[in-house]
Amino acid sequence: MSDLILRGIRKDYGKVRAVEGVDLTFTHGELTALLGPSGCGKTTLLRMIAGLEDPTAGSLRLGGTDLTDVPAHKRKFGMVFQNFALFPHLNVRENVCYALIIDGVAKARAHEKAHELLDLVQLSAFADRRIGALSGGQRQRVAIARALAQEPEIFLLDEPMSALDANLREAMQVELRMLQQRLGITTIVVTHDQREAMTMADKIVVMSSGRVEQFGPPQDIYHKPQNAFVADFIGRANFFDGVIRNKTIEAAAFNLEAATLNFTEGAPVRVAVRPEQVHLDGTLPQGNRVPAQVTFVRDVGATRDIHLETPLGRLIVEYALGEKARAYALGEEVEVHLPPKALYVYPAADPIPSAA
Ligand code: ATP
Repeated sequence: MSDLILRGIRKDYGKVRAVEGVDLTFTHGELTALLGPSGCGKTTLLRMIAGLEDPTAGSLRLGGTDLTDVPAHKRKFGMVFQNFALFPHLNVRENVCYALIIDGVAKARAHEKAHELLDLVQLSAFADRRIGALSGGQRQRVAIARALAQEPEIFLLDEPMSALDANLREAMQVELRMLQQRLGITTIVVTHDQREAMTMADKIVVMSSGRVEQFGPPQDIYHKPQNAFVADFIGRANFFDGVIRNKTIEAAAFNLEAATLNFTEGAPVRVAVRPEQVHLDGTLPQGNRVPAQVTFVRDVGATRDIHLETPLGRLIVEYALGEKARAYALGEEVEVHLPPKALYVYPAADPIPSAA
């Protein structure tokens, strides 16, 4: 029952700082997703955890054991790579027991173990198949079974779904999550896909430019984003700028209330609000109302997006398309309500990634 603890982990490649000052505790038995845009340092961090890269600074501990200088093959960590890295000249069973046989496990025992694992990933019927004769999803399951063969203490996966098509990816996310829960194995998954992270993870590490922006359960990351980067990267957000006046946000001559405002008078702020939390339909509550004009409407399956031009700038409103959803004409004058609780307020200096 050991947690994996990272302290002050840094990685420099020459002048490139790929990972900077990472302090994280991966709780025993939990699945954590490392999430962030391309180049933010997710893979480098995972490879340092695996022992495939040496940190430039910092330490890594599993329970009471310092692993910082322990080489990869002595860490007892299982790893699944983006391209699965299976041996094409071996069949499914041989792929799964390869490492056991190298470790000196008797062939009969190794085969028995391989069958248990193939059962677990529902591939028993494919034990004699060549790797080339498997689908992408089946290959991924072989890679998972192979990584679990040595009963790793920590299970690491680098973009495990990226080679799969969209439908299969969703099914495999659920399968992998169920398997991980059944085994109770501490697991770390690198992904750039927020839905994947939300589907599978107990906790999410949101990274940008080598740093941890936020670490916590998916619902906290979504509903309590700590900065503008996280608000924008996870889910969708409208942004507008304002200034603190009399404990309200003054923006384009409107005074908006926010549930919490920990800023001094006159401080410039950047405000985020999620499209599904802006009210447009029905009777609007008093206060925090802004006039708007409809510029674009689009139905996306079960939801409708309405783009509005407002004094605060462009806002997108999203709502579920029920039977009574009313139509909006282009150019129509409307009013929106921005609930005080839905306004996330940050210092104006907080960068918005999508505006970069
Ligand atoms: P992606 O999602 O695109 O795989 P990532 O978040 O996994 O990206 P990393 O691969 O960890 O990002 O890279 C982080 C930074 O370190 C990038 O700027 C990358 O160019 C740099 N980097 C990674 N590996 C090396 C290396 N071997 N030599 C020099 N720079 C590297």
